Amino acid sequence: MVSRLKHAVYKLSRVKIDILEHYKYHHRSTRIVEQDSDYTNILNRAITVFFKDAARITLREPSKALFFLRTAWWQKRAAQKRQRWQNENLHVPPFLIISVTNECNLRCKGCIAFAHREHRPAARELSEHRLRSLVSEAHQLGVSAILLAGGEPLVRRELLAITKDFPSIVFPLITNGTLIDETVMRQLKENETSFPS
Ligand code: SF4
Repeated sequence: MVSRLKHAVYKLSRVKIDILEHYKYHHRSTRIVEQDSDYTNILNRAITVFFKDAARITLREPSKALFFLRTAWWQKRAAQKRQRWQNENLHVPPFLIISVTNECNLRCKGCIAFAHREHRPAARELSEHRLRSLVSEAHQLGVSAILLAGGEPLVRRELLAITKDFPSIVFPLITNGTLIDETVMRQLKENETSFPS
C-alpha cells in the first residue's frame, strides 16, 4: 500500500511539473485545465487504491474491517459526486485544507501562524457556525478529505464534535499533540475518520 501511495505521489509531482513547464512555454490556459483534470483523476484513483488496500489488510482484523469498508464505500460515492460536478464543468477537488485557527498553545520560532497574526492582528477566526457550514458544503460537493491545520487545530474544542457529524469525510489533523488529553482521546476513538497526522 505504501509503495502504491509513493507511486501516486510521484505521478502527482510529475503532473505538477508538466503543468508548470507547459505554462512556462505555451501560456495556454486550456491545456492547464486538461492537466488539472488529469491531476484530479490521479488523486481519485489513488484514493480508491488506498482504501481498497486498507480494506484488504484490515479484513484480517474484523473490528477494523467494517470501518474501512464503510469508508471505502463513502469515498467511492464522493468520487462519483465529483465526477457528476465535473460533467457539469464544475471542478471539485478531492482534498481541502482548512486552517481553523491561528491560535496555538505553543510559541515555536518561525511559526507561520503567528506571522499571519502579526500581519493581520484584526483578522477574526471562523465562527463555529461558519466552520460547520464550510464542511457541510464540502460534503455536498463530494470532497473526500479535509486536512485540518492551524495554528493548533485542537485549541478549537468544538472541532471534533463538528467532524463527528461528517463521518464520510476523512479528517487528518496537523497537531502538535500537546492538547490530546483524555477527552480528546475519547473523541478520537468515537470518531474514527479524524486522526492526528
Ligand atoms: S506548534 Fe505549530 S502552530 Fe503551534 S507555535 Fe509551533 S509551529 Fe506554530
